[in-house]
This record gives sequence, C-alpha cells and structure tokens, in this order.
Amino acid sequence: MKSIPLHVKILIGLILGVLWGIISVSAEINPDFTTHYISPIGALFIALLKMVAMPLVLASLVVGVASMNDFKKLSRIGGRTMAIYICTTMLAISVGLGLVNLIKPGNQLPEATRENLMNLYAQNVASKVETASTLEQQSPLQPVVDIVPENLFYALTNNTQMLQVVFFAVIFGIALVRMSAQKKDFVVNFFDGVNDAIIIIVDFIMLLAPLGVFALIGTLIVEVAGNDLGKALDLLKSLLWYSGTVILGLLAILLIIYPAIFTSFTKIKYRKFFKSVRQAQLLAFSTSSSNATLPVTMKNCEENLGISREVSSFVLPLGATINMDGTSLYQGVAAVFIAQALNIPLSLQDQLIILLTATLASIGTAGVPGAGIVMLIIVLEAIHIPVAGISLILAVDRILDMCRTVVNVTGDMTVAAVIDQAERKQTAKDQENQLKAMV
Ligand code: ASP
Repeated sequence: MKSIPLHVKILIGLILGVLWGIISVSAEINPDFTTHYISPIGALFIALLKMVAMPLVLASLVVGVASMNDFKKLSRIGGRTMAIYICTTMLAISVGLGLVNLIKPGNQLPEATRENLMNLYAQNVASKVETASTLEQQSPLQPVVDIVPENLFYALTNNTQMLQVVFFAVIFGIALVRMSAQKKDFVVNFFDGVNDAIIIIVDFIMLLAPLGVFALIGTLIVEVAGNDLGKALDLLKSLLWYSGTVILGLLAILLIIYPAIFTSFTKIKYRKFFKSVRQAQLLAFSTSSSNATLPVTMKNCEENLGISREVSSFVLPLGATINMDGTSLYQGVAAVFIAQALNIPLSLQDQLIILLTATLASIGTAGVPGAGIVMLIIVLEAIHIPVAGISLILAVDRILDMCRTVVNVTGDMTVAAVIDQAERKQTAKDQENQLKAMV
C-alpha cells in the first residue's frame, strides 16, 4: 500500500486540530485539558525545529560561502538578494495600499464595534507600545551595529540573533577560502558533515509534524475562543472587511506576483514550485514563525527545487530575518484601515511614508509570531495615528499572522529560486568565456 505523503498527513493534522478546537469549545470541555496535555505537544514540536535552526544556518552557510571560492560571486549574490528583497517588499506594500484604498474596509466598521474593540484591547496595546518605544529610542544606525555579534557563542545560543550568526558565518567562510586547501578542506568537511546530520534530524522532526500541527491549531482555537465561540466568531465577522482585504492582498502576491516573477526569471513551473514547498508553507501557517520554519524551508528548496546549497544557505536565513512580503503588505493595509476607522484622512505623502516605514519595519520584524504588529506601531507613529488604534485589529491578528507568514516564507523561496537561476546562467557564461579565452 502506498503510504500517505507527509504534506497530506500535516493537512489532516491541521483539520483535526480545527475540529478539536471547535468540539472542545462547544462541548465545554475544560480548557485546562488542552492547555496541559495538547499544547505541550505543539510547544515540543516548535522547540525541536528551533533546536536545529541555528546549527543548520551556521554549518550550511560556512560550507556555502567556502565553496564559492570567489569573493566576486559572494558580493554578486548578496547584492542581488538584497535588491530583490527590497523590491518585492515595496511591491507587496503597494498592493496592500492599492487594495485598502479601493475597498476602504475602515469605513465598514460600525461605531459600536469600534468602541467595543477599543475598550476590549486597550490593555494589550500598552505592552506592545512599550516594546515599540524601546526600539524607537535607538539610533537609526543601531541595527547596523547590532549585526556584529559581540560574542559569537552568545549569538549562537539565542534564536533571535540569526542575522549576527549569518554575519559571522560569511566572514568565517571567506577566511576559509584564503587558507591552504588542506586546512580549509578539513574544516569545510567537518561543517559539511554537521549539515548533513542536521538535515537527517529535520527528517526525524518532520515525522512529528502532523501531531505538532494538530496541537498548535487545536490550542490556538481553544485559547482564542475562550469559553464563547459565538462571541469570538462575532468579533471575527465585524472585522471581515479588514481581514478580507489583507487576505486578498496576500493571495494576489501568492497567485499573481510570485508566478509572474517565476515565469519571467526562472524555468521552474509555478505548479511544481507549489508542490515542492507545501511542507514549508503548511508549517509556516501552523507555527506563524519564519524562523521556526527555516530548517524545512531550506530542505524543501535544496531537495525538491534543486537550489544549490551556496544560494539557499545564504538567501533563506537572510530572508527569514529581513524579507517579509506578507508582513509588509499587512502593515500597509492595517495602517490605512485604522486611519479610516478613526476618520483620519491620509494624504498621498502619508501613504508614501507608510511605504517607506513599512519597508523598514518589515525588515526589522523578527520571524516570530506576532512581531509584525509591534513594528506596525512604528508605522502608525510615523503618520501620527493614535497607536491605541491597533486595538481594532488585535482580535484577528493571530489568524492573519498565520497567513502572512506563509507569504513571508514563500517570498524567501521565490527569491532563492530566482538567484539560483541567475547564478547558473552566470556560471555557464563564465565557463563559455573561459573556453573562448583558451581557444
Ligand atoms: N510571524 C511572522 C513571521 O514569522 C512575522 C509577523 O508578521 O508577525 O514571518
């Protein structure tokens, strides 16, 4: 008998998780049962993924950079990756701004709901504002200073320090290229072995994915719905226009923009791409975290799409930290939605400020659940909108976080495919030129 493919099992886990959540809330099963016995399975699954993320980034990037053998290639890949990341982010925000100005979801929000939401979430807002204001007090150049890890071992033990580890691994890889072949090979072979071992561990972890996804989704529904599913659904309904606008934008990116990028810059059919990356997409949806999904994102890209390790090991960890197309689109829509709901008119200049600040904010957003809404505060402050306005959208943020994380991760993989294709073309051209020079 043919065994069920993993992505189908994960999907079944997801559906069962939704069912569990609904049954548990409507049959009034004590939520403590879910919190004590189901939630830890999801937490365990995420912890396993996080456990391998940092060693995988270090090992694969060291091997990737050391195998490039030439500094020109590294700077070319780096330059192109950054340029495409920024362009896709700005494009995503523009799509979001276009849609929110067209649909005007903020005008659909009844006055009573607005007041209700503002009262309900006022307290949650305060803690998020505090985090954002600590970030704002920094110098604008602080993020550049932060890229350099003061202590490598500290960075390696802290999952929020991905960019710092990327920085070290690139420098370490370059240093290796400068060493004698004998010494270099010894170190590179070591990291290569570590990398392969971790990929095998990722396979083990993925066996747990269906159960992990079941637990994550089941717990989420029980937590969000509390003891009144009807009330939670009413809240969702009142924000349907807003959520619909964000989801429409995300779908436009997934189904129009990325396929267009694929047809223009690679030979990969988008259908094949979708099939190859669905595990990563399902995980992004269930974990709401680009960082936790990273080991599977890298595996899908290398094994299913044939993207070279030198490209995937550089482009993907960088993308998980700085490239967030879904988040930036959401920040654009949310900022304008709040302004509309609070009857604050926005000029064209304000919308341009949103474009710029949301680009920077999404770069600064960490690949963890709920990070996007904290950075949204910075966008709101830039256009002088009361940050208390985020209480209007908090109720649906968790669901939208799941959806935008799928786009964030898909965007990283799209760019990795484009860069890989460009590198292959460049290598073929270089070889041709070399041959010509020899003749
Ligand atoms: N959860 C998102 C991610 O990990 C970030 C966010 O938008 O909150 O990509």
